[in-house]
Amino acid sequence: MNSTDSKDHNYDYIIAGAGASGLSLLWNILQSDKLNSKRILLVDLNFTPVNDKTWCFWDDSNISFEDLIYHTWYNLEVSALSNSMSEDLNKYKYYCIRSVDYSEKILSLAENSSSVTLMESKIFDFKAEGNQGVIFTEQGNFKAKHIFQSALKPPGLKMEKLDVSLKQHFLGWEIETKKNFFDPDKAIFMDFDIPQTNGISFFYTLPFSETRALIEYTIFSSEVLTDEQYELELINYLKNKFNLESDDFSIIRREKGVIPMEDRRYPPMYCDHVYNMGTAGGFTKPTTGYTFTRIQKHSKDIVNALESELPIPSQRASTYRFRIYDMMLLSILDRDIDKSIQIFHDLFKKNSFDRILQFLEEETHLGQELKIFSTLPYTPFFKSIWKMKHRILAGA
Ligand SMILES: Cc1cc2nc3c(=O)[nH]c(=O)nc-3n(C[C@H](O)[C@H](O)[C@H](O)COP(=O)(O)OP(=O)(O)OC[C@H]3O[C@@H](n4cnc5c(N)ncnc54)[C@H](O)[C@@H]3O)c2cc1C
Repeated sequence: MNSTDSKDHNYDYIIAGAGASGLSLLWNILQSDKLNSKRILLVDLNFTPVNDKTWCFWDDSNISFEDLIYHTWYNLEVSALSNSMSEDLNKYKYYCIRSVDYSEKILSLAENSSSVTLMESKIFDFKAEGNQGVIFTEQGNFKAKHIFQSALKPPGLKMEKLDVSLKQHFLGWEIETKKNFFDPDKAIFMDFDIPQTNGISFFYTLPFSETRALIEYTIFSSEVLTDEQYELELINYLKNKFNLESDDFSIIRREKGVIPMEDRRYPPMYCDHVYNMGTAGGFTKPTTGYTFTRIQKHSKDIVNALESELPIPSQRASTYRFRIYDMMLLSILDRDIDKSIQIFHDLFKKNSFDRILQFLEEETHLGQELKIFSTLPYTPFFKSIWKMKHRILAGA
């Protein structure tokens, strides 16, 4: 690891933001024989790894960071309209990686690399200057031919068309129980059978052992709640679902977050020479909030381009077809709680879980998608096509 004390403020690459996407890119660059001797500056407010996020995802091959998998589930359960549906997964498995393990692994590699400089600093802005990008930080300005940033919202974002702006917001507790309560092979993916008072609401339960699980209260709506509101629902759920009173468990960790659910197009570039990644780059799937797998794919695409000296790819995370599906569903989620829950119910009742995950991963083909849609109520989708027609006709 280098220090920024040197007067040289020029780098080959600057990675601004050392979260899921910044560290994924750094990892892939350091794995590349062609790129790992490039001079890299990594900037973040703080490099101390924290156990504040669990990233869950499903995959069937080439699992990113396989050695970091903290837990694997083989069976998923979904409940809606008082129907509990559960299924063993065949094609996929559901995995979880902890942010603390991910940061520790990649940052220790960076600290042992002579090509990487780590700088803790607040990032203010970026701009293009000649054939380079410039990053403005509390510690000064630094330049590189390519800057990859996941720290700041791109300035062009506000100008992009926006019809639906929801948030996926959640608060969860990782609890330890005195008695055995959980099946560690089975995750409760979505449980909608709870009061729908604060927006489209569900719980998910990720058991790590028979006595330890992360249980999160999640809502799709435009306003976040107070911590007390989420926690009251958690207490009620633990009691109603698992018959757990407050004496029966201890809270060992809290997890909280807000993920955008918007139909807005995210600009691929902050400005010339500065590329957006992660949530700031629009890599969050608007209807599910899942981002981790897309981030891993994006960093591999960037590294392939850098190795071949090709332009950095600027394609969106989703194709036109899947953007339309996301817009239609977002528009239903935005206006009709009952229809939305009916759709989730029918989706999981009438299709295999593997096929649904494949669809959510955007790996299905049109024929498979039409089959899925044929199992869902038509009217809300026709209404949303009508509502979003200006977007659909304008390229989504
Ligand atoms: C609690 C939580 C759980 C999630 N769980 C899942 C999941 O299970 N599966 C999934 O697919 N997705 C999940 N997501 C969504 C998404 O995968 C994560 O938000 C992911 O961390 C996004 O990666 P990122 O690199 O875009 O942003 P981050 O990981 O947030 O990284 C951004 C980095 O930029 C730094 N930064 C920000 N501002 C500045 C500044 N001004 N100066 C310097 N540095 C700055 C931050 O310190 C941070 O390290 C979750 C999100 C949250 C919040």
